[in-house]
Amino acid sequence: MAVRPIRFAPDPVLRQKAKRVTRIDGAIQRLVDDMIETMRAVSGVGLAAPQVGVPLRVAVIEIPGGEVIVLINPEVIKKEGERVVEEACLSVPGYKGDIKRSVWVKVKARDKRGKNIRLKGEELLAQALEHEIDHLDGTLYIDRVESPDKLQKLLPESNQEGL
Ligand SMILES: [Zn+2]
Repeated sequence: MAVRPIRFAPDPVLRQKAKRVTRIDGAIQRLVDDMIETMRAVSGVGLAAPQVGVPLRVAVIEIPGGEVIVLINPEVIKKEGERVVEEACLSVPGYKGDIKRSVWVKVKARDKRGKNIRLKGEELLAQALEHEIDHLDGTLYIDRVESPDKLQKLLPESNQEGL
């Protein structure tokens, strides 16, 4: 396993629509392992492959106190409600902003072994699922902030959860 460097906006890889994974092979499993190690190294809650420069539909999420979730080709199949959340992104360091996210989402994906999985997330997990799937479509949370002046600078000592 290895920690891979995080790509920061405006790196074009963050704006590409990531490609679907067609074969879950050793290279994908290594990518997943590296992404988990990288996410933990930066104390992130989630990480999408484009954030380490790989334009493939792969994401990992680890909510504090929860298990690591590996998502290959994830898709939101159902979502409900709307709530305002404070969000930040590892690829947009130093900022946070209020945006609207769903109250809960249902996602289908494949896991690291290629098994079909479905999961339902609420609160931070729903937010992380939407944030990481956005990354796979080349969307950053800053696109969802009402106006650029709604983006706030983070104080250096704050430990905002990074996605
Ligand atoms: Zn992010």
